[in-house]
Amino acid sequence: MAGAALALLLRHHGAAAVTLVESHAIRAGEPPDTPSFDARSTALSAGSLAILERLGLLDTVLERAAAIDTVHVSRRERLGITRLNAAEHALPRLGAVVENRWFGHVLLGAVEADPAIELRAPASVSAIARESDGYRVTLDGEERLTPLLIAADGARSRTREWLGITARHQDLGQDALIANIGLAEPHQGVAFERFLDDGPLALLPLPDHRMALVWTGPREQVDHWMSLDDDAFLAALRQRVGAAMPRLARAGERQRYPLILTEACAQAVPFAAVVGNAAHTLHPVAGQGFNLTFRDLALLAERVGGQPNPGRLALLEQWAADRRRDQADIARASRWVPELFRVRNPLFAHTRQLGLLALDLLPGARKSFARRAMGL
Ligand SMILES: Cc1cc2nc3c(=O)[nH]c(=O)nc-3n(C[C@H](O)[C@H](O)[C@H](O)COP(=O)(O)OP(=O)(O)OC[C@H]3O[C@@H](n4cnc5c(N)ncnc54)[C@H](O)[C@@H]3O)c2cc1C
Repeated sequence: MAGAALALLLRHHGAAAVTLVESHAIRAGEPPDTPSFDARSTALSAGSLAILERLGLLDTVLERAAAIDTVHVSRRERLGITRLNAAEHALPRLGAVVENRWFGHVLLGAVEADPAIELRAPASVSAIARESDGYRVTLDGEERLTPLLIAADGARSRTREWLGITARHQDLGQDALIANIGLAEPHQGVAFERFLDDGPLALLPLPDHRMALVWTGPREQVDHWMSLDDDAFLAALRQRVGAAMPRLARAGERQRYPLILTEACAQAVPFAAVVGNAAHTLHPVAGQGFNLTFRDLALLAERVGGQPNPGRLALLEQWAADRRRDQADIARASRWVPELFRVRNPLFAHTRQLGLLALDLLPGARKSFARRAMGL
């Protein structure tokens, strides 16, 4: 997802040629099935939609996306509900939810349509060597020199390792279970975030009366949810969702993802940068991972796209420095929010309800929270 998006952004900002290397096969014209473009869905913030518009891809992405008009945040069996809505921010929508396979189909379709982007898939880089003017890369046995090498190969990035950049990994001991849920009534563009004792649960609107479920919990709990038949699973889910949510009718295939936070110790070194999951992975609670990455990529492409020496360290370090604040704020919030909601101390629980209530009662606080979440 990060690699394809960056290739398009680099071209948009004047890069003469880009090579995109993917280890999985990609068949022209077919929805991809790679680790990024899998059964998940992505909530794209208003900021991400604006970047897609600049790339000329927004209309195609929206053909099969559902708009988020309202975000409804609640906690089980407690007071404290907050709603964020698009009208309050004078926006046509707060964001949109797209299935990763469709998103991948659109991004890779644009990659394939650009003769200056060479897509090598399935292909692999077997070695890299630093030269005085870039990296010599061995790609399927063939050597080539690049003035800028970008590691976008996921949280366990081999390229990042080859660059000598270490990463911190924090296993949260939790998994995210995902599934598409069929509804018995329309969702009306509402995205639900519900904080439960096990962990947060999100239901995001999808086209055709469906919602994308992201349900996080301790691994043994997720083992149990995975072992249930569809009816028992739906019953367990119904028990936890609030009365505000639409009636759930059917559950699609379930998949799980371990929640391991990753943070690369550096994102810029001479002639190379680290982006996407290779640079940082977040708790999926607020659907911020790719939105944050997309902002990193847009700025990187703007800074290096038309440069004769795109791998200059000063240029890359300045980019990394300019992205640090946004990355730190979002990482802190996505670590802090699920923790905050897990603490069982009654006094603290009360404060946290007040927090949600305050967010609902103070339009200013809600507005700044929403603008941040939307990447504006
Ligand atoms: C359950 C869940 C829900 C999420 N929901 C949202 C959301 O709603 N909104 C949001 O903004 N973010 C969301 N995210 C985060 C989002 O999925 C990530 O930001 C996104 O996957 C980052 O993509 P990436 O391309 O950096 O890495 P990856 O998705 O890990 O992709 C890495 C790619 O590199 C390829 N690769 C690996 N090794 C090599 C190699 N050696 N050579 C060549 N290619 C290689 C892989 O095949 C893969 O295609 C969610 C994450 C999870 C787990």
